[in-house]
Amino acid sequence: MVDIEVIAVGGYNEVGRNMTAVRVGKEIVIFDIGLYLDPITGSNNVDMENMHSLDLIQMGAIPDDTVMNSVEGTVKAIVCTHGHLDHIGAIQKLAHRYNCPIISTPYTNELIKQQIEGERKFSVMNKTFALKAGGKYTISQSLTLEFIRVQHSIIDSVMAVLHTPVGCVVYANDFKFDMTPVIGEAPDLARMREIGKQGVKVLIVESLNLDDRGYSPSEQVARLRVRDAIMRCEDDKNAVIVSTFASQIARIKTITECAREIDRIPVLLGRSMERYNTTAEVLKQVAFPQGTSIYGNRKTTDRMLRRVLKEGKDKFLLVATGHQGEPGSMLSRIALNETPLKIEKGDKILFSANIIPTPTNYAQRAEVDRLLIRQGARIFDGLHVTGHAYYQEHYDLLAMLNPEHIIPSHGPFSMKAGHVTLGSEFGYALNKEIHIMQNGDRLVLPK
Ligand SMILES: [Zn+2]
Repeated sequence: MVDIEVIAVGGYNEVGRNMTAVRVGKEIVIFDIGLYLDPITGSNNVDMENMHSLDLIQMGAIPDDTVMNSVEGTVKAIVCTHGHLDHIGAIQKLAHRYNCPIISTPYTNELIKQQIEGERKFSVMNKTFALKAGGKYTISQSLTLEFIRVQHSIIDSVMAVLHTPVGCVVYANDFKFDMTPVIGEAPDLARMREIGKQGVKVLIVESLNLDDRGYSPSEQVARLRVRDAIMRCEDDKNAVIVSTFASQIARIKTITECAREIDRIPVLLGRSMERYNTTAEVLKQVAFPQGTSIYGNRKTTDRMLRRVLKEGKDKFLLVATGHQGEPGSMLSRIALNETPLKIEKGDKILFSANIIPTPTNYAQRAEVDRLLIRQGARIFDGLHVTGHAYYQEHYDLLAMLNPEHIIPSHGPFSMKAGHVTLGSEFGYALNKEIHIMQNGDRLVLPK
């Protein structure tokens, strides 16, 4: 009988640079090859496109996959569950070392292709393959991949199931169970129950929000919060700028629809706004209201902002990058007076995002807030819900899948420890069925 080994390559000490390898006998499947942005945003003049992977590994920005050199077997596939950078952002730096296809959902696949096209240092020849949620892909005679529909803070997210001769390996990183999503359908819980009946050898599962009780709020809750804030701007003559995650397509759909409700023209501003939203539109995964426009580069965004000044701030609703205070983002440039748009007393800045908890983000965002407030802006926070499952969703997942082993992933020890409490409710014990791993650790599962 074949043995299963799990190799924790990245994302087991931090919230970022996710990468897990699973060896089944002599065949290996890699799940995610992500980026950890903090070491990059924290240092000056990082030209990532031209950097060598070993330098990026040394910085701690991408997974240290040198551990793979000592794993005996052939990598048969790279699988990505969704399009966030901490899951796909280092593919262009590491995938060329493995002679195998990259498999992901259609939206994620487009984003991966764009990353590979933008790479300057390495030529990445791996084939990319789009597999829809609900679909299956034969990796080899003994391995089949299946994608199951879940929700997250980006469209087209899935849970990956690897069918092996000795049971399923389930990779649930990242997910939430949103029964009333704004885009797409509810999670395919029926299929998860079936997989549980077939037998799950190991569940590799994210750990971000285990400290939160109950269920994570639906994206419909964010929609209500955003709509409430925007409807209050109906008779406002001031600028209304909403900042949210450029890849949160469902949220941007909400914001643009609310803008139309108060007769403002929605305008998306910033490079990543253009990239993620145009890609979603082209793939017909979202339809924004008529009249919505998107501008990416500095020249076109500045031209648009001159038009806003000329025709009236009250005619438009701007959706801008920069909720983490990122240098060079639209909101940072507006705060620094580097665009034609001047902030005046009473202009509203709505944040439909949380601050991703890293020291760099806290510092940069505080600076942007300070600059905006000094110019008279009114700041509105918290128009947001998370994309990560809370404690009771994790409970439901365990009840459905009934895995033999649990490996918490995606976070430092303090976050992963929540799975020990949860697991104990089902009789799982630490180091027996629950395994807390660190980057670089390898674990052969007991048969
Ligand atoms: Zn994610």
